[in-house]
Amino acid sequence: MEERKLNFLEEIIEADLASGKVDSIMTRFPPEPNGYLHLGHAKSICLNFGLAAKYGGKTNLRYDDTNPTKEDTEYVDSIKEDIKWLGFQWDKELYASDYFDQLYAWAEELVMRGLAYVDDQSQEEISAGRGTIDRPGTDSPWRNRTPEENLRLLREMKAGKYKEGEKVLRAKIDMAHPNMMFRDPLLYRIKYATHHRTGDKWCIYPMYDFTHGQCDSIEHITHSICTLEFDVHRPLYDWFIETLGIFPSHQYEFARLNLTYTLMSKRKLLELVQKGLVSGWDDPRMPTLCGVRRRGYTAKALRMFCDKIGVSKRDQLMDIQLLEWCVRQDLNERSNRYMVVQDPVKVTITNYPEDKVEWFDCPLNPADPEGAKRRVPFSRNLLIERADFMEDAPKKFFRLKPDGEVRLKYTYIIKCEEVIKDAEGNVVELRCSYDPSTHPVTGEWRSVKGTIHWVSVPEAKEITLRNYDRLFTLADMSKVPEDKDYKDFLNPDSLVVTKAYAEPALLGDNSGIAVQFERTGYYVKDKDSTPSDPVFNKTTSLKDSYKPE
Ligand code: ATP
Ligand code: MG
Repeated sequence: MEERKLNFLEEIIEADLASGKVDSIMTRFPPEPNGYLHLGHAKSICLNFGLAAKYGGKTNLRYDDTNPTKEDTEYVDSIKEDIKWLGFQWDKELYASDYFDQLYAWAEELVMRGLAYVDDQSQEEISAGRGTIDRPGTDSPWRNRTPEENLRLLREMKAGKYKEGEKVLRAKIDMAHPNMMFRDPLLYRIKYATHHRTGDKWCIYPMYDFTHGQCDSIEHITHSICTLEFDVHRPLYDWFIETLGIFPSHQYEFARLNLTYTLMSKRKLLELVQKGLVSGWDDPRMPTLCGVRRRGYTAKALRMFCDKIGVSKRDQLMDIQLLEWCVRQDLNERSNRYMVVQDPVKVTITNYPEDKVEWFDCPLNPADPEGAKRRVPFSRNLLIERADFMEDAPKKFFRLKPDGEVRLKYTYIIKCEEVIKDAEGNVVELRCSYDPSTHPVTGEWRSVKGTIHWVSVPEAKEITLRNYDRLFTLADMSKVPEDKDYKDFLNPDSLVVTKAYAEPALLGDNSGIAVQFERTGYYVKDKDSTPSDPVFNKTTSLKDSYKPE
């Protein structure tokens, strides 16, 4: 295997193991169940599960479910399905809500130690009182309530005595702290909402900062990996753990994944779904894991991609072509081949008997010529791609032209004898002859410059193709101008539906992954297929000038 440099997280882990700071590794993947997972989450999953696996540790799946109004069991289930599909298995399935009792007990503890208080200010007053980076905040008029009074009020909050927004619980730290996070952060807010797990048991819910670190600590997470925007939260993460004197989990930040021509915000993806701008979370144009799966991207290609992009401490925009390259790498190795004609022109083999059909055994994958075969019929009436014929062809055009020869893939060499056109001058039929002595098995080998794909008309199956392109037209979706909306950049041509004609074996394919339509691209059968109307989604084109560095 190719040796690569350790990334900064591996360096930290190896140092921690070597120094005895930890004796085993425990990580967690902490999704909020408020949407479907996207490619950015795949990066986080590959890191969390990958690091633990590499160092003999384990990874918990912990749902960060502290916001009952946005969360749903539909999302909980899809997240599990996506992680398993990516090829990972969690140790324990846990929920932040499992710890609501413990978190609340810690809140009472902080109150009794004079480190938390109930604040009656409105949300606006609280944010105004916070100050700015260069101006200290001001103390809340409720900051100096006694622990006993705070405890009584907190218990009343919990018992449902107050309305939403009427009171909050805040930590009592330092309203002039240079890190704004320390200016008496909110610990609990009142919310009358039914939680997907705890039902109506609670009407106060803990805030992220009062939840995440303690949950990590309860689970003895050694390396809590998150994205860069959380670096300002880290001191507070540490403060709660130190103040409560609990297991010392540590947080480390890496750069979130951004990809060209798409975006990875669950909120915006949800909006696309709700407004019907895509067919659903699993629309094959979506950057969600269920979307790319339906598009035909493989878990292996995604893992390869996450490995290639590495881990960085600086935000960067990755080229989506690298992901497509990984998909091609994997599919090129594994996918079955079939011939499909998308924009057909009729070819009649005038010297081939009317009622004769020959079946050729063709390899499903050229890398394995002795492996499994598919049977391809050949007859007098064929279809080829319109683009594979040219009447006034330049010298370098090695496909079919008047009086020219070409090899029909897996079969004979044919020669174009006559071009038939309609009244408007469009080519409607090419009358060709075939050379029986060029049979690929029994004939003599004779080489011609061009080889093209084709299908035999009587056995051909009509299929529907959904040709997908990028969802957005702007490469860097973080650069949407202020006077525009991200939806203004939706690509109007991101889906083009066409008909095509396939060799019959395609419909019997049961490989379970995308297949290659020879010379054109990778396609995967869609769940919308019916026996009379098979539908195939375009995964990616066959080739691209793109080369990874
Ligand atoms: P979004 O902004 O899309 O809603 P999120 O960060 O709120 O994403 P969570 O469900 O909280 O979504 O994320 C679970 C984990 O995945 C977190 O640890 C988060 O840091 C990580 N993650 C989310 N988006 C990305 C990304 N683009 N690249 C890498 N990791 C990500
Ligand atoms: Mg989040």
